Amino acid sequence: MSARIIDGRQLARRLRERFRERVTALATRGVVPGLAVILVGDNPASHVYVANKVKACEESGVRSFMHRFPANVAETELLDRIAAFNLDAATHGVLVQLPLPPQVDVRRVLESIVVDKDVDGFHLYNVGALVVGNSIFPPCTPYGVQLLLETTGIDVAGKNVVVIGASNIVGKPMALMLLQKEATVTICHAKTRDLARHTIGADILVVAAGRPGLIKGEMVKEGAIVIDVGINRVVDGDGKVRIVGDVCAGEMTHAAALTPVPGGVGPMTITMLLVNTLEAAERIAH
Ligand code: NAP
Repeated sequence: MSARIIDGRQLARRLRERFRERVTALATRGVVPGLAVILVGDNPASHVYVANKVKACEESGVRSFMHRFPANVAETELLDRIAAFNLDAATHGVLVQLPLPPQVDVRRVLESIVVDKDVDGFHLYNVGALVVGNSIFPPCTPYGVQLLLETTGIDVAGKNVVVIGASNIVGKPMALMLLQKEATVTICHAKTRDLARHTIGADILVVAAGRPGLIKGEMVKEGAIVIDVGINRVVDGDGKVRIVGDVCAGEMTHAAALTPVPGGVGPMTITMLLVNTLEAAERIAH
């Protein structure tokens, strides 16, 4: 048996085509969805992520407003810029690329984005709304995973789902969203003892630890669905850089389905950012 590959690129493409119709409908009312993107410092990965987001906006009829700051930016400068985007009628979503440098209080920055434009879903209000199952903008990566599961015809209700990773941006919101869909959820993290004891019972395993090779074949039960959120840069013996997930993909032949890295969750994350931005623009237009 070999695991079915859940193609995130294909689904993202389909969603973005549907998205175009909604952008066109908004255009007839004189509204162009607009996303402000704030990038601080020179983190190479952040630059790649932001470039991909801006490109996706261009391809989808969303206007993007890039604002770059040096790594030594003062927190007040950032807050002033966000305040301006909050007031700007052409900006429907505001995104601050993380991580931020240590002199900046990340929570204060995220809390300064008005809730109606918090398309990343990281504002405390949005986080709280997620807890009560009523989120305004679901955070993009777990939202993308949820959609991947739904469109693949995987119903999580009643399933044993194990989420590996408990970060605020992936693991925790993912677990909450799955719980909302009536899954029985276990959350594992770096201090979890005997990880395999948990993973082996999973009908659905969502891995977001940022540790290449963490999940080996023997840790996954026959017929499980494996969602690999990890994005890790590894250098091969010949010096080439490769992007891999957290799962040993070659050892997953006994799984029912697997998301590839790249081409699984990643394209969905960017697509959900566009969806949230469009949603924000539509709410204003109505
Ligand atoms: P993060 O903030 O570093 O959190 C990692 C989480 O994994 C933490 O909760 C940590 O536990 C846990 N962890 C670390 N080592 C572990 C281990 N050996 N066993 C079990 N749990 C372990 O990372 P993140 O932002 O959530 O991202 C996780 C991964 O997803 C990264 O590879 C990132 O690049 C990727 N990512 C992908 C997308 C996408 O679109 N595909 C989007 C966002 C992130 P503690 O809490 O105990 O430290």
